[in-house]
Amino acid sequence: MRAGSGTRDASDGGAAGDARVVVLVAGGPDGPRPRVHPADEPLLLADDLAAVRGDGCFETLLVVGGRPAKPERHLARLSRSATALGLTGPSDDVWREGIDLAAREWGADSEAMLRLVLSRGPERGGTETAYITVAPVGPHALRAREEGIAVTVLNRGYAADLEGSAPWLLLGSKTLSYATNMAALRHAAANGFDDVVYLSSDGEVLEGPRSTVVIARSGELVSPPATAGILEGTTLGALYDVAEREGVSVHRERLLLTDLLAADAVWLISSVTLAARVRRIDDVVLPAGDPQINVPGLVDRAVGRA
Ligand code: PLP
Repeated sequence: MRAGSGTRDASDGGAAGDARVVVLVAGGPDGPRPRVHPADEPLLLADDLAAVRGDGCFETLLVVGGRPAKPERHLARLSRSATALGLTGPSDDVWREGIDLAAREWGADSEAMLRLVLSRGPERGGTETAYITVAPVGPHALRAREEGIAVTVLNRGYAADLEGSAPWLLLGSKTLSYATNMAALRHAAANGFDDVVYLSSDGEVLEGPRSTVVIARSGELVSPPATAGILEGTTLGALYDVAEREGVSVHRERLLLTDLLAADAVWLISSVTLAARVRRIDDVVLPAGDPQINVPGLVDRAVGRA
C-alpha cells in the first residue's frame, strides 16, 4: 500500500512522499468509526479548506514498537488548537480508536510518523475533515539524531510578547499553515544548514520551525517560555516529567542568542526527530563536551523508547 516514492522530508521529520497508511476518522463529533482508507486513493475534495487555506490543525506522533508515543499529550494539544480555530473535531475516544488502528496497520517493525489532521472541511459546506496518515521516519530525522545539526538563526518578524494581544495569529496552535516554516527550512538548506532557530524581532530565542529549543547550563535544562508565542512542545512536557523524576531540573526562561552560544550544549527536540544536538550556530562551532545531562536518553525514556 505505497502511496508515492518521493523522498522529501516533511515539516516534522517524516518522509513526505512515502505515506503508507491512511485512516479516515471522518468529520465532526458524530462521524462513523475510523476505518482504513487506501493510501493511494484520493481523500480530500479539491476545495477542502485544509488544501486551499491551510485552515485546520494537526499533530505528529512517533510510533515506536507499534505503539503511539505520548498520545494523550498530542490529543490535549490538538484539542487546544481546535478550540483556538473554532473547530470541534472528533471526540478524543474516536481519535484514540483511529490512532490505535493506524499504529496496528503500521506494525512494530520500524518507527513511523503518525499525523492527525483536522480541517474545517470543504469550502462549499459540510462537515469538518479528519484523518490520520502514517509514514516512515525520514532520513533527515535519523541523521539529526545520530550526527547532530548545524542551524541558522532567522528573524521570525514579530515581538515575543505578541501572543496575548494578537490571538488571531494562533501563535500557540499547531495549525496546518506551515508554508513559512517550510520556506525557512529551504532557506536554511540552501545555505548549507540542517535547521533553523527563530528569534523574535526583539531578539529572543523562540523555537525551531518544527522543534523546541533546550539548552544545558550549569547542570540544568532551560527552554524558552510558552508565553513567547511558541508552540508548547509535547516532547518538552514529557522530558520535563522524566527529568524531574531523575533529579534534573528543567525551567523556562527568556533566552537570547548569547545564552545559546554560551551554553554547555544546545538541542532541538521534537516528537519525531527526538533530540538533535546543535553542533554549529551560523559560523560558530559549539563546544562538543559532555554537558553532564544525557538529553537524548531522557527523551528516549520520555517517549517510551528505552
Ligand atoms: N515548535 C514547532 C513550531 C513545531 O512544529 C514542533 C513540532 O512539530 C515543536 C515545536 C515541537 O513539538 P513536539 O515536541 O510536540 O513535537
